[in-house]
Amino acid sequence: MRALILGGTSDANRLAEAVARLGLDAIYSYAGRTQAPAVQSLPTRIGGFGGATGLVDYIRLQRITHVVDATHPFAVEISRNAVAACATTGTALIAFERAPWHQSQGDNWIGVEDVAAAAAALPEQRARVLLAIGRQHLAPFAARPQHAYTLRLVDPPKAALPLQDAEVIVSRGPFTLAGDLDLIRSRNIQWIVARNAGGTGARAKIEAARQLGLPVVMIARPALPARQNTESIDDVLAFLAHDARLGA
Ligand code: NAP
Repeated sequence: MRALILGGTSDANRLAEAVARLGLDAIYSYAGRTQAPAVQSLPTRIGGFGGATGLVDYIRLQRITHVVDATHPFAVEISRNAVAACATTGTALIAFERAPWHQSQGDNWIGVEDVAAAAAALPEQRARVLLAIGRQHLAPFAARPQHAYTLRLVDPPKAALPLQDAEVIVSRGPFTLAGDLDLIRSRNIQWIVARNAGGTGARAKIEAARQLGLPVVMIARPALPARQNTESIDDVLAFLAHDARLGA
């Protein structure tokens, strides 16, 4: 057994710790997006593979037997490539995937399919908007220049942002309810745009919005090909140890 963990999330880091503790043979892979990625106990590689065919080559070269896709639920390219490359090479694949958030009492969500629809869902009149969506996805909001945007990014932006009125907060999760309540109150945020990432690390802003009665434009998860998946680290460890076939 030799595993490749496609990472870049706090969940992937927790999984990698568990895999390292058991002394399993595994490689952790980062895309190389952030300037100072968390140091892993597992051997680590950084950078894209070169599409699905590059991933096929890597799997063969490194004699990978199991791939764990622990990437962010919105990282669709790498997840699609993993499905394709594992099918081509006959490699076992499991997605370590958190469940999406669901609305509960007091939530005021406007559900949308993608980032462009999220920008369109903002009100006509000027509002103070928290964009919790990552720097690659800001362009559609340039079409709504009347708003004052607050962005929370992992690294300071290297290039000019496409938004005229934007404040950047450089901060890395996990975030707390108290911290997000403070952020929202101190900047008089009126609207929140979020992606339905699921999990606990980014949930605080959703809970804060509920407490404060703020609308949340919630971007749905992109569709991915069917694959085995689980939310449980123990299931992933069992998959690695026994190649257990879990429910898709
Ligand atoms: P993406 O759009 O699915 O991936 C774009 C390309 O980046 C992929 O085609 C692949 O390049 C490379 N890549 C992505 N993840 C990789 C990994 N773990 N190891 C090696 N190469 C990887 O992904 P993204 O949305 O840009 O996210 C990039 C990374 O940031 C992922 O690891 C993800 O878990 C993490 N992340 C993303 C978000 C988010 O909001 N999307 C949030 C938190 C963390 P090649 O085609 O050349 O192989």
